[in-house]
Amino acid sequence: MNLNQPITYIKGVSVARAELLYSELGVRTCNDLLHLFPYRYIDKTQFYTINQLHQNSAEVQVVGKIIAIKTVKQKRGSRLVATFADATGQMELVWFKGVKWIKDSLKINVPYVVYGKLNWFNNVANMAHPEMELVSEYKKKLQSAMQPVYPSTEKLSNKGISNKVMRSMMQNLLQQTFEGIQESFSPLFKKDYQLLDKRESLLNIHFPKNQEILAKAQYRLKFEELFFIQLQLLVKKLINKSKIKGFVFENVGEYFNDFYQNHLPFDLTNAQKRVLKEIRKDLGNGAQMNRLLQGDVGSGKTIVGLLVMLLAIDNGFQATLMAPTEILATQHYNGIQELLKDTAINVELLTGSTKTKKRREIHEGLEAGTLHILIGTHAIIEDKVQFKRLGLAIIDEQHRFGVAQRSKLWNKSSEEGVPPHVLVMTATPIPRTLAMSVYGDLDISVIDELPPGRKEVKTVHRYDSHRLGVFKFLKDEIEKGRQVYVVYPLIQESEAMDYKDLMDGYESISREFPLPKYQISIVHGKMKAADKEYEMERFVRGETQIMVATTVIEVGVNVPNASVMVIESSERFGLSQLHQLRGRVGRGADQSYCILLTSFELSSDAKTRLKTMVETSDGFKIAEVDLKLRGPGNIMGTQQSGVLNLKIADIVKDSPILFQARQAAIKLLNDDPSLSSDENSLVLKRLTQLQRTSGIWSNIS
Ligand code: ADP
Ligand code: MG
Repeated sequence: MNLNQPITYIKGVSVARAELLYSELGVRTCNDLLHLFPYRYIDKTQFYTINQLHQNSAEVQVVGKIIAIKTVKQKRGSRLVATFADATGQMELVWFKGVKWIKDSLKINVPYVVYGKLNWFNNVANMAHPEMELVSEYKKKLQSAMQPVYPSTEKLSNKGISNKVMRSMMQNLLQQTFEGIQESFSPLFKKDYQLLDKRESLLNIHFPKNQEILAKAQYRLKFEELFFIQLQLLVKKLINKSKIKGFVFENVGEYFNDFYQNHLPFDLTNAQKRVLKEIRKDLGNGAQMNRLLQGDVGSGKTIVGLLVMLLAIDNGFQATLMAPTEILATQHYNGIQELLKDTAINVELLTGSTKTKKRREIHEGLEAGTLHILIGTHAIIEDKVQFKRLGLAIIDEQHRFGVAQRSKLWNKSSEEGVPPHVLVMTATPIPRTLAMSVYGDLDISVIDELPPGRKEVKTVHRYDSHRLGVFKFLKDEIEKGRQVYVVYPLIQESEAMDYKDLMDGYESISREFPLPKYQISIVHGKMKAADKEYEMERFVRGETQIMVATTVIEVGVNVPNASVMVIESSERFGLSQLHQLRGRVGRGADQSYCILLTSFELSSDAKTRLKTMVETSDGFKIAEVDLKLRGPGNIMGTQQSGVLNLKIADIVKDSPILFQARQAAIKLLNDDPSLSSDENSLVLKRLTQLQRTSGIWSNIS
């Protein structure tokens, strides 16, 4: 039978039931139902003796006899208590409902199998409303020993689709469709990776005979799920590489060499050199580059980006650098302008607040090709900017740029219909498992080394009650000539409460740090861009010692003299945000500090986040913890990927399987890139099906 038939083809599934299953669980076809996996199992393979029961036993199965029954009066009605015994001891079975009827049906001194959840009272185990069956009946039945428990909803159980009904539906489903289940791996492949047969796996995921075979079935199905995601990503990467033509940057010319030899203010770290090499290789091979450049905060991504832009210019192209905020774009502009001041390269800044006249000049420069580098915000994408010959687009801190915006970039170059190379720079370290699943089709370069001489930021956690001590410390640091940040959570810029916290905080800091001795800047999202910039500028120039801000300063801001980061209500920040904020200090030669202020009441997740921050400054470790705490769905960029709608695998818990599956997919494609061998025909068939249905292709940028 064809698995794409609606589930009404299954015995026992009426149209009404089918509609319910669709609206509640999204199950439409037989195949959907086959892949609605149990989330746990009732294990009746195990029998316990009464003396083996302990406080932690959850649901257990015991064989014994009822030796006494009594009815106990209680406030309302009565309860029935049976004493149940085996050779090793006694326990109680208890009923609160249907007391009379049950009492009449129970048999004394006849062996029963009872099953249920244990409760303890005065060291005696009891089971309320147990499932029970005479041993003689139990033996007659050839039931599967482990029972699946399926996901359900209130509506489903109200409408009579209990777990028992689900189970019988599944049984019918398996009977009717078993022959139609298609294997997706060849026998050799299954042997190589020790995978159970697909039919066996599906049968045993629903009705496992024992724990051992269940584990094998789960492994096989997880492996398959992850394998095909990897295969799709890898195939897509292959196709991109071969289909999307890219400009060839073959020259390392005057601009690059002059800058490298005469204007580079420091030696590149080895990691920077390596990454630069990886990028250059990409730019020479004729295909469009789509590369993610990961590097922890302060690892020096900007200079790498600049050098790549110089390569573009050397080859007769223009380049653009986009940042998520106006502050950041301005800072990039100032920094790069400064670095390039003795060269003949033209750089301009385009943001939402660029004046019309300037804007017009920029347009002209871009179209004429006399403007080499354009730095800016989203304005670059939204504006009707056209480049004469855009060869390279660098996107800084990409998590704020949507996929759609990225694709708009492709239309910016009027030349030859060839898209610019894209380099995405991010300081949000992406755990390897996630990177593989979400960005498996991008190339990734990692700067895993900080420039020399950086001191690790000392991080402490303090309760609000220690605030005065913290203020004293800030005064000492300011006395030494340092600057400090005090950051407030503004989770949603519109939230009135958060805004009030910020303003209250600002006031109390103004009182504690009075004029004229202390100068304070304040920056938040409700301010006009020009005011923000003015305040930021004052801090950058060292005219103010304290920057009170919301997370607008989270990304990228660079003030090496700032040595203390105080984060208010830090329990409300996510780990990656805390890490980003901390990255604003420790950029100069001085010892820097990060002080995490919190109230006394902390959730256990908040405690884990704070502890992690205090213990490590390794962005990748922090990202791993973040992934574990929040799950993949909440980590940047994953929602839009669509690849994480996993049915059975969990990319955090099953990361070992993910690595194996990826390796297997890589090997397969290496040996047979077009999947045209007989051996791979099943894989190819499955892949083709998936490409038709899953949308993974269009979802990933
Ligand atoms: P991020 O990777 O966070 O964007 P930046 O590019 O802003 O980091 O670099 C952080 C700071 O480190 C800047 O002040 C930059 O000039 C400096 N820097 C970058 N590379 C080096 C290096 N190889 N040696 C010394 N300082 C460097
Ligand atoms: Mg940066």
